[in-house]
Amino acid sequence: MNDSPQTKLCPDCNAELPLEEFGICKARSDGRNLYCKTHCRKRVYDFRARRRDYNATRKRLAAEAKRNMEAAAKAIKPAAPIILSRNEKVLRAVKDGCRTLGEIGNATKLYKEDLYDALTLLLLDTREIATEMDGNTRVYFPRVQFQVPPQSFQPAQSFTQLLIGSLGPRRNTRGSRR
Ligand SMILES: [Zn+2]
Repeated sequence: MNDSPQTKLCPDCNAELPLEEFGICKARSDGRNLYCKTHCRKRVYDFRARRRDYNATRKRLAAEAKRNMEAAAKAIKPAAPIILSRNEKVLRAVKDGCRTLGEIGNATKLYKEDLYDALTLLLLDTREIATEMDGNTRVYFPRVQFQVPPQSFQPAQSFTQLLIGSLGPRRNTRGSRR
């Protein structure tokens, strides 16, 4: 082989530079880097800057996405279960089939005083529930909302009768409850 060239072209400088301006790179055929030392450093620096930008952008977008998801979750989730009043809790429990004070208490997890207050209001004020004795046990049940004019139906005489009526075949189509 002849004497190797003493200069080399750096594509970034677009100029012939002395060979010692190029770092050692055993992987390349001429044993020198493609770019001069200055441009090698610049390329590494630029690459790191781009990577920093990329990571920062990714982090920002992830935080943004998280905020959006949390905002969406907050918007979707109704505040209702949290601000459900004790009256609503009791009414829901009774409508769900709780009959005795113990059952309603277990379902609503209300303090006794709050439970009594709510029952009193629902029984006497809003009249959404009714109560009567079933043997020795006081039971509570939703007051049935009839759609027919008030003069055309006979109110059920007892809770048991009401229960049997609602379980049995629907005879009175005009008194349909749902
Ligand atoms: Zn260069």
